[in-house]
Amino acid sequence: MFIHNCEGDAVTIENKLIYMDNSATTPVRKEVVEEMLPYMTENFGNPSSIYEIGKISGRAVEKARKQVADAIGAEENEVFFTSGGTESDNWALKGIAFANRDRGKHIITSSIEHHAVLHASAWLEGQGFEITYLPVDKYGMISIEELKNAIRDDTILISVMLANNEIGTIQPVEEIGKIAREKRIYFHTDAVQAIGHVPIDVKKMKLDLLSLSGHKFEGPKGCGALYIRKGTKIETLLHGGAQERKHRAGTENVPGIVGLGKAIELAAGELEETNKHLLQLRSRLVEGLLKVPKTHLNGHPTRRLANNVNVTFEYIEGESLLLLLNATGIFASTGSACNSSSLEPSHVLTACGVPHEIVHGSLRLSLGRLNTEKDVDRVLEALPEIVQRLRNMSPLTPQEYRTL
Ligand SMILES: *Cc1c(COP(=O)(O)O)cnc(C)c1O
Repeated sequence: MFIHNCEGDAVTIENKLIYMDNSATTPVRKEVVEEMLPYMTENFGNPSSIYEIGKISGRAVEKARKQVADAIGAEENEVFFTSGGTESDNWALKGIAFANRDRGKHIITSSIEHHAVLHASAWLEGQGFEITYLPVDKYGMISIEELKNAIRDDTILISVMLANNEIGTIQPVEEIGKIAREKRIYFHTDAVQAIGHVPIDVKKMKLDLLSLSGHKFEGPKGCGALYIRKGTKIETLLHGGAQERKHRAGTENVPGIVGLGKAIELAAGELEETNKHLLQLRSRLVEGLLKVPKTHLNGHPTRRLANNVNVTFEYIEGESLLLLLNATGIFASTGSACNSSSLEPSHVLTACGVPHEIVHGSLRLSLGRLNTEKDVDRVLEALPEIVQRLRNMSPLTPQEYRTL
């Protein structure tokens, strides 16, 4: 799919593989790899060491911290590196819960969060905390009224994601932030999908905690960060050495952190340009897909990530669709990647009220910076035929949607 041409630029090989699963993960950008390489070879020192090669690593980590801070409007000492989005979400929820349990045991989140938040919440319930899962409307939006009504005297944390990984819906984070700050409740957002697509300013959004993950914006896997606003009372998740100012033990993933820093700088710097490109592709793709009869767009029509397309085809089994697409060299996803090995219907689509009979016919195509109009056209050439083939085979398809 992507190779490096003789100038070293990533190019898509036409008529070969088309990757449209960028919400699952992204390829690491060439500039990012180049930045990382020296920290796996000559600059291998441990940032905690006091001799020169250790200090070189330490300075590289601090440079990356500034890159992350600048990209989200934070101070450098408010950024903590982690092993990715999952750890950041777990740290935010468990860390706030246990540090503030003398104030209360109630947490508010939404029913469409990533499993890193939902399963951490379920675990906290087992530890005696009470969780309210806010419902969403058919577009995947929470209601501010319902949020206000859910707040109790013992509410200590609100965790609502910035943009959803399955349907791309963008939540009214600034409004939530205002309410949380007024009520003196901590506010965490999972911004893993939003980085590089939604401009982020932690001060304007009145955030206390924000999770991000390198591999969702063309950085390396296994490296993320948690923004923790100065003065926030939070427990440590990993105990051990004094790394990350004693807040997160473990020798730093120096190459990963360096890559994350470079990737977020590029993603935030090119946000407008990238979104413009993705919006063009998205409109073309959605328009083409909706020409297929009995097809529905999931998520919000406008308040959504520029790279996200999620549709449901009636009378179709999503897994079969994926396999046939795979056979034509097109890589996509049914719900979220985490669901693709289970037969459970997507909790996000179910929460949006997509009927049980059709929820299994859902497909997520998530675009990336490297996708082209040609990629979109090839998908639009291949997909309707595959859908028709599957409909012809399904006993559920009414006669008028079959062809011979
Ligand atoms: C991918 C993702 C995560 C998990 O991040 P990892 O770095 O893969 O652990 C969390 N939240 C959302 C919204 C995601 O898309």
